[in-house]
Amino acid sequence: MKDKIWLSSPHMGGGELKFIHEAFDANWIAPLGPNVNGLEADLEKFLKGDVQVAALSSGTAALHLALIACGVVYGDEVICQSMTFSASANPIAYQGAIPVFIDSEKETWNMCPIALKEAIVDRIAKGKKPKAIIVVHLYGMPAKMDELLAVAQEFNIPIIEDAAEALGSTYKAKSCGTFGRFGVLSFNGNKIITTSGGGALVSHTKEDRDHAVFLSTQARDDAPHYQHSHIGYNYRMSNICAGIGRGQMEVLNQRVAARRKMCDFYVDLFQDIAGVTVFVAPHEDFHSNHWLSAITVDADVAGMTVEQLRLAFLEENIESRPLWKPMHLQPVFAEAPYYGTNVAEQLFEEGLCLPSGSNLSDDERFRITSCVRNLFAK
Ligand SMILES: *Cc1c(COP(=O)(O)O)cnc(C)c1O
Repeated sequence: MKDKIWLSSPHMGGGELKFIHEAFDANWIAPLGPNVNGLEADLEKFLKGDVQVAALSSGTAALHLALIACGVVYGDEVICQSMTFSASANPIAYQGAIPVFIDSEKETWNMCPIALKEAIVDRIAKGKKPKAIIVVHLYGMPAKMDELLAVAQEFNIPIIEDAAEALGSTYKAKSCGTFGRFGVLSFNGNKIITTSGGGALVSHTKEDRDHAVFLSTQARDDAPHYQHSHIGYNYRMSNICAGIGRGQMEVLNQRVAARRKMCDFYVDLFQDIAGVTVFVAPHEDFHSNHWLSAITVDADVAGMTVEQLRLAFLEENIESRPLWKPMHLQPVFAEAPYYGTNVAEQLFEEGLCLPSGSNLSDDERFRITSCVRNLFAK
């Protein structure tokens, strides 16, 4: 069997161990310490703008704390992009709130501003104004932030940007994750950079940032004994994980460049193959980190379905994966309201994510090329 070509695997930069050694030498083996502060400072600098970052144990934890900060409680409604990873929506349920799912538009595959407005108007008419809007930058592609922010502002509802896949992406030269009331980042093992597991909450005031840190460290009041006036969480990032993150921040720009080159590689590879379309930015306002490269396949024109393509890759031990199955089609969210025209559903049926790692070798690209050429030569 040939070696597996992964969809997206961790890619260390080399500087990580230095920071971990420092942590060991100083015995900072805890969910606090110089690497945690250092990673937060690195992220604030990278994202630019006036942002405050709290390093947390996961992107999911960051989403959960963002919802709490937006005042989401039992029985509230929260709007969420349907086409996304389940971690975008699960924290809504943690709060006992109800997700209201919104379709995608065709250009960026992210939340459709028209369906968003329709949903808000209808939810208000039905008696409940949604408490927050979770917008996702899918596969690193920035959502149509101007249009989405305009709708959100019209109804005065805060946006939480799920930028878990979009560190290094920009919309009109501004970093994804810095547009909303809160932004969420993830450093899970398959993301553009990793801390083995981790995430961050991006906010715009010191109060919001400090409150998130307070909740993430068991909400301990200022007293010599353990005194609690709020329900807390154990969501802070460890100083060891943050050490990996600091090493990864040294190479983040290179990682973005490499992922974007993978997308160019697929644009070249598929340019003469009818029926296969590579997912690219609609125009230059949308600067994607291309965390994952993706294609859609029109089976009638291509002469094969996207599932046949996935299985052909699998036979060569090349990992590929269907697009995220929309949340409104998931059994666990079957009861949730949905607004849209089934754009996400069609994308799910026709789409496939391809190996996109920043560490893929020329040999691996050659194997992918051969596999595609052989398939479509038949
Ligand atoms: C990875 C991811 C998350 C969750 O991040 P974790 O750090 O794995 O908890 C949330 N939303 C999206 C869109 C993701 O891809």
